[in-house]
Amino acid sequence: MNRPLVDGFGRVHRDLRISVTDRCNFRCGYCMPAEGLDWLPRGDLLTFEEIERVARLLVERHGIDSIRLTGGEPTLRANLPELVRLLAALDVDLALTTNGATLRVLAPRLRAAGLRRINVSLDSLYPERFAELTLRDDLPRVLDGIDAALEVGFDPVKVNVVVMRGVNDDELVDFARFGRERGVVVRFIEFMPLDADEAWSDRSVVGQDEIVSAIHAAFPLEPVERSSAPATRFRYADGGGEIGVVASVTRKFCDTCDRVRLTADGQFRNCLFAVDEFDLRGVLRSGAGDDELSSVLAGAVAAKWAGHGIGHVDFIRPARSMSQIGG
Ligand code: SAM
Ligand code: SF4
Repeated sequence: MNRPLVDGFGRVHRDLRISVTDRCNFRCGYCMPAEGLDWLPRGDLLTFEEIERVARLLVERHGIDSIRLTGGEPTLRANLPELVRLLAALDVDLALTTNGATLRVLAPRLRAAGLRRINVSLDSLYPERFAELTLRDDLPRVLDGIDAALEVGFDPVKVNVVVMRGVNDDELVDFARFGRERGVVVRFIEFMPLDADEAWSDRSVVGQDEIVSAIHAAFPLEPVERSSAPATRFRYADGGGEIGVVASVTRKFCDTCDRVRLTADGQFRNCLFAVDEFDLRGVLRSGAGDDELSSVLAGAVAAKWAGHGIGHVDFIRPARSMSQIGG
């Protein structure tokens, strides 16, 4: 490593999220409009070779030590295990975030390709509510996908729950129980203003304090020391595992954020909420060498702002929704 990715505030970036597709078979309202989006033309997507080149450069020259594959729904990208195999060869902690619907089939292949950690998004344990939220009647498949991931040895399996007021905030304790019984880490995520339908309001956010106190009343919790990871961790006092809360809204963690993003169409983003992107695909396809690519990456991080302003009058939503940016 010869050039850490440092921004103007001294924050060193080590965590890379790579979106491998903008397509999705679900329509979670907080992420994508019900009618779907116009998918990117195939030629606009970075190839596996291009993704691997950028990832390798970021790992070997710039100190990235953690990569998460996401989307859209990453399991819809053809031959995903092949990309996993390429990235697992790098010296990084590699994980995948998925809606879980295809894991019964894919989990063994992903594991064999070298993936160790998996995160499954799941926002309701009620079949009808799940179908309303995702516009797919797939709760049994997702639950079976979580079992499949556990069976082939993914460790940990984490379940991400976006908590929305009046939608699923009555399921906090049910999710805690689910995590304890299945041996998975449940992470509760505060609802962020990245929904395509722009229905978000601060009243729809259920904050960390409320989440933790509801669960603590049923299963007493104690805090785990904070790391640079976005989730604040709590363990069950009786040793029954742990939960995480990603409090991007009520406890914004921009001061310690170490994450950069690569979208499926090769745009490099220095913040989830950034309004500007850096056209890496253009640079890659212009025949640029590694030094030129490195300068673009380092310059993009150097240009990072102090943080998002959710809740402030001057907050500007990014032009693309979560499924297009890569959550
Ligand atoms: N399709 C995969 C999935 O659902 O896990 C990966 C992509 S999805 C965009 C990544 C994560 O972003 C999911 O955990 C999802 O719940 C979360 N997410 C999407 N929109 C969100 C929002 N408006 N606020 C908070 N989290 C959101
Ligand atoms: Fe698809 Fe994931 Fe967005 Fe749901 S959260 S619409 S599964 S990309």
